[in-house]
Amino acid sequence: MRTDSPTSPSATTVPGRGGSSGSPTGQVRPAGGVVVTKPQFREISVIGERPISTQSQSRDGTPIDLFLFHTTEGAGGGEALIAFMERMGDRSYHYLVDNDRDGNTVYDLVDTDLASWSVLDANARSINLVIGASFAAWSRQDWIANARNAVRIGAWLAVQDCRKYGFTPRVIKPPYPLDPPGISDHKYVTEHLGIGDHTDMGDNFIWDILESDVNEFLGGAVLSTDQKIDYVFDQMSKLFASRSPYREDDNPFETAVGVLLMVDRNEHMRLVEDAALRGEPWAVEKVKRLANGEGPGAWLWYPDADGNRQTDTWAIEHAKAVYKKVPASAKKTT
Ligand SMILES: [Zn+2]
Repeated sequence: MRTDSPTSPSATTVPGRGGSSGSPTGQVRPAGGVVVTKPQFREISVIGERPISTQSQSRDGTPIDLFLFHTTEGAGGGEALIAFMERMGDRSYHYLVDNDRDGNTVYDLVDTDLASWSVLDANARSINLVIGASFAAWSRQDWIANARNAVRIGAWLAVQDCRKYGFTPRVIKPPYPLDPPGISDHKYVTEHLGIGDHTDMGDNFIWDILESDVNEFLGGAVLSTDQKIDYVFDQMSKLFASRSPYREDDNPFETAVGVLLMVDRNEHMRLVEDAALRGEPWAVEKVKRLANGEGPGAWLWYPDADGNRQTDTWAIEHAKAVYKKVPASAKKTT
């Protein structure tokens, strides 16, 4: 189940505009009772112990919204690759998943709270995983024969980090129709974000298998396999920031539908109150009713934590203030 929107209806309406109470990020939690099995691997952390872990930098507060796969374009993974990257001194990844014959060792190279040096200007927003010995030119059969288990381990790590950092663990595969958040590869950075020119994982990467593994680790909370539906869902469920020139901040605070309902609330209030201030009896009656704490609009449209309906105190006080300004002649006739 995705929880892109706040767990209870947002109370940020007219007076509270711009406040952000819910998490703006997507997360998938396992469906109740589903047990997922962690793939077996040995994990060796060299963070704080080897120079590779210092080939990193602060994210400067940038939220993480991508988990990216890479190839090494080399035949040697493991220790040899770490030593190579340390000699070069200018590149790194967070995870190295060794797929040697005796492999399935995961090396933690760089703390995921920091940015690794993997994808140029996309470093700050991404977590990067490289598969030990791997080539973008591999065929599908090569991938299955040489790195099937490494991909499964990668899927596991991706789901864990999506949960940890609160972004949606959906696989974005070629032709890369979606903006972040998601799980993708270096070629996505090149083609969708327009950064750099790397093409790993190549044209034959086993996206379907990665996606299947990711969905399995999500514990049955399978996202749509149709990326168009994913896109629509994303647009309908994500929180948007206000575009009012009077906004107080740029924090996401409401879904598209929530914004429409707020527009309805604000516009109808304006219409009724303008008419009441002109002395139109039907409108004066509405304002008077709300000012007296009566009518359906005296109640908030969502219950409190115990399920009880709540008074819309702000609306009632607002109606009282408006009613004070209604022409005295109009008040007499109602
Ligand atoms: Zn790469």
